[in-house]
Amino acid sequence: MSDRVLRVLIIDDDEVDRLSIKRAITSSNMCAEFIEADSVNLAFKYLEDRSFDVALIDYQLPDGDGLSVIRTMREREIDTAVIVLTGRGDEQLVMEMIKAGASDYIPKGKLSSDVLCRSINNAIRIRQAEVEKRVAEDKLIRSNQRIENILESITDAFFAVNNDWEISYVNNQAGFLFEHNVEGLVGESVWEVLGSPPSWFKEKFFTAMQGKVAISVEGFYDCLQIWLDIQIYPSKDGLSVYFRDISSRKETEARLNYLATHDILTDLPNRMMLMDRLTQSLTRVLWHKRSVAVLFLDVDRFKHINDTFGHSAGDELLRKISERLRACVRSGDTVARLGGDEFVIVLQDLAHQQDVVEVAEKLLASMSQPIQVSGNEVVVTTSIGVSLFPNDGDSAETLLRNADTAMYRAKSSGRDNYQMYSPSMTNSETERMTMESHLRKALENHEFVLNYQPMIDTRTGQITRVEALLRWDHPNLGIIPPLDFLPLAEEIGLIEYIGEWVIREACAQCKEWQNKGYTDLYMTVNISDREFRAQRFIDQLEEVVKDQGISKNYLEFELTEKIVVQDFEASISKLNRLREMGIKLALDDFGTGYSSLAYLKKLPLNTLKIDRSFVADVDESPEGTSIVASIIALAHTLNMYVVAEGVETEKQYQMLKSQGCDALQGYHISPPVPAKELLGLLKKYGVAPASRIA
Ligand code: C2E
Ligand code: MG
Ligand code: MG
Repeated sequence: MSDRVLRVLIIDDDEVDRLSIKRAITSSNMCAEFIEADSVNLAFKYLEDRSFDVALIDYQLPDGDGLSVIRTMREREIDTAVIVLTGRGDEQLVMEMIKAGASDYIPKGKLSSDVLCRSINNAIRIRQAEVEKRVAEDKLIRSNQRIENILESITDAFFAVNNDWEISYVNNQAGFLFEHNVEGLVGESVWEVLGSPPSWFKEKFFTAMQGKVAISVEGFYDCLQIWLDIQIYPSKDGLSVYFRDISSRKETEARLNYLATHDILTDLPNRMMLMDRLTQSLTRVLWHKRSVAVLFLDVDRFKHINDTFGHSAGDELLRKISERLRACVRSGDTVARLGGDEFVIVLQDLAHQQDVVEVAEKLLASMSQPIQVSGNEVVVTTSIGVSLFPNDGDSAETLLRNADTAMYRAKSSGRDNYQMYSPSMTNSETERMTMESHLRKALENHEFVLNYQPMIDTRTGQITRVEALLRWDHPNLGIIPPLDFLPLAEEIGLIEYIGEWVIREACAQCKEWQNKGYTDLYMTVNISDREFRAQRFIDQLEEVVKDQGISKNYLEFELTEKIVVQDFEASISKLNRLREMGIKLALDDFGTGYSSLAYLKKLPLNTLKIDRSFVADVDESPEGTSIVASIIALAHTLNMYVVAEGVETEKQYQMLKSQGCDALQGYHISPPVPAKELLGLLKKYGVAPASRIA
């Protein structure tokens, strides 16, 4: 205290007294600064204005007394320590002043430097302690208030109970949740509020109290008919409990769970639930030495119905089919939809394996009854494959796979029948499925490559166009020819993507060669049936051609007769669109299909490619030659450019040339080769002028 200036206020109307106080303080080692007031009025002016460490107050003042000064100071929260100077030893008065907030008193007669210093130091210390205590109390009150505010503002219901299960705090939300008025609840037994809680809750509540452990639990609170998330926190005074209504979350969860395990269209269990149930039944029946049957059903020609009547009719049909299937089995059996037109039935607990035959026959019979679909009567049939546990597999996956394999056999045996699985079926089916899964990955793994085969113009001996031919460079099996995987790609719909890649790649390659100076070079690309029919074919094509920056006038598509014959009118209009775009069209493998020369007239074709089976005959017999000769003549009257495929010998080459065939393609000239090698051929033969092409 001695190292800082002590601020002292002397309130005394007697100048001599004030002087002796000052002298007593300054003669000690205290360094002080004095303000003097000779009245209560003036004293408060100073007190309001600045702060003092201590005030020395005479009891008797002209405009009041010491006691009222102290009271006023404390009322106004002036924290200065107070020492009263009394003239006479009035014990009663001193007590009152101490009570009012004075820290000490000194009889005026005993004013010595020592006494005063000690008293001042004491007074300041006491006052400081009081102030600290008050600040701490204020803080506590404020923090309690804050906690209370929080507890009232949270959406959770909350209460605290003491160790005697009495409520020590409860928020309004708790009152609302338990339908209780919270007024006057503090001190009541908690069981009053909780109503009749479910036993799981009581158990947790007791555990938390007895073991003083925190507990978090979710459960259905019967008497309120809601789901609650309950958090219990112990303290030495009891428990704090939070309740949160999670009914809507639970509802969402239940809904999501339903969606994750069911097929939305038919409400049947989906694959996930099917596998779950199947696995469960396998464990169950193992003990009883019974059997389980898995029936894999695929609706025959469902796609046709979908295409003919539209998707919503297709959906309606699937719903009706699922009702029928359900009606054919017992309530404990599972009918699931895997997706598309595939369903699986699990027959539980079969006493005799023969029973499955009856069910399969019943299913076939029921399915072949006519069904009303958006006002039309349709008849659908099904192919069913059956596998049995434990003979045909001991896991859900194996049984399902084997039933699927048997179903394929049913399809290939003419549909509308069922087949029991036998191990001999597996090999060819497994192969097909392995191939399918590899094929699905081939595109993203960049396993496709194009080879190119030139066609030579017979008049100039130069290359007129180059045909892009696809190969699959399989990581284990090596190069796979297109006819070994394209049918499967068509079947599973991958052809659209593969086809897009082919066009893109071929265009890029053609552009590269054109940029090298072979400006009149044509690129021909084979288009398959499903690719041609795809709705987005034209749009996609526009995009690809634009991306690659190749002129469409240098692009030719080879289509087979099959494409053209199916859905003749639609094909013609699509072909016309392509022609309008500037793309040339060739009919590939001419002579192998059903097409008659007569309807060739109706097709907007530029080029006709004579199939190599005719070309092979050219060597062999005069008839062979005359057939080819008449094809060439007719094509020319229709103003078509004629190419012969599969030219393998010099004799064929000369013969075809002499018959007026425009261009020749075949091993005799070059087999299909990688792009790099083709560049050599371009150099060797040169490129025929574009004007040669019809
Ligand atoms: P294509 O369009 O008729 O192609 C001609 C096929 O005959 C090619 O078989 C070719 O390698 C082969 N070839 C060429 N010259 C001779 C010859 O002198 N003698 C014999 N015996 N054969 C010859 P490849 O490459 O195996 O293609 C087979 C078929 O696969 C093609 O027949 C075509 O229809 C289809 N294809 C090929 N690439 C694609 C493609 O990118 N997309 C589509 N959709 N189909 C394609
Ligand atoms: Mg071709
Ligand atoms: Mg061909």
